[in-house]
Amino acid sequence: MESLINTFITSWYIWVLIILVFIYRLFLPKIKGLFGEKSVAFFLSRLDPDKYKVINNIMLQTGSKTTQIDHIVVSNYGIFVIETKNYKGWILGNEYDDYWTQVIYKRKEKLRNPIKQNYGHIQALKQALDEYDSINYVSIITFTTQADLKVKTKTEVVYTINLSKTINEYNKKTISNSDKEKIYKKLLSLNIDNKEKRKAHVKTIHNDIAEKNKKIDSDICPRCGGTLVTRNGKYGQFKGCSNFPKCKFVLK
Ligand SMILES: [Zn+2]
Repeated sequence: MESLINTFITSWYIWVLIILVFIYRLFLPKIKGLFGEKSVAFFLSRLDPDKYKVINNIMLQTGSKTTQIDHIVVSNYGIFVIETKNYKGWILGNEYDDYWTQVIYKRKEKLRNPIKQNYGHIQALKQALDEYDSINYVSIITFTTQADLKVKTKTEVVYTINLSKTINEYNKKTISNSDKEKIYKKLLSLNIDNKEKRKAHVKTIHNDIAEKNKKIDSDICPRCGGTLVTRNGKYGQFKGCSNFPKCKFVLK
């Protein structure tokens, strides 16, 4: 009897371990949910700030287009462009599909292929950073663990909890420290996602339109500065640029 008690006492840690495993199992779904739903910004904030420069929610202006990007991480190992999706249920899709499918409560919904969406973001970034022509861009699509990913892709499509792990897998140095800093600062300066800048931005667009109309009113081509002349076309008279065919501006 005494030896049995002794065995029990000396092996107390085994019991503690069993209880801990039991508690862990019991709360696993909750623990998973807790971390799975943490925002991407939270996981990115835990990356080494000396190595990884994070920009959350940036709006870029390239030409006449505005592009909103969820997260950009500028590092020595490339620029990570992250698109986050908050979908529940099964997510099915392939690299080149136009649409992916969400299956939830036996219902099917369509969603635009986020890989294609993010491809557009990367194109905008390339345009904004066109002086750096040898940058490698890494597209990453993230879903919370609320989604059950059943996708077949070359592009990284990962759960938010695995985001930093995925980023850390890229370890080939392609961007110098000074370029990394320059790119980071440039992107911050290009971000029009604050009220003042956005207001100014809208104002410039308005000014541009006003300017254009003023020129047209005085028969000046807004595209090349030539003269606007009346011409006879197949469908009647129209006003076009005197520098045709070099300039194809036509008043509509
Ligand atoms: Zn013209």
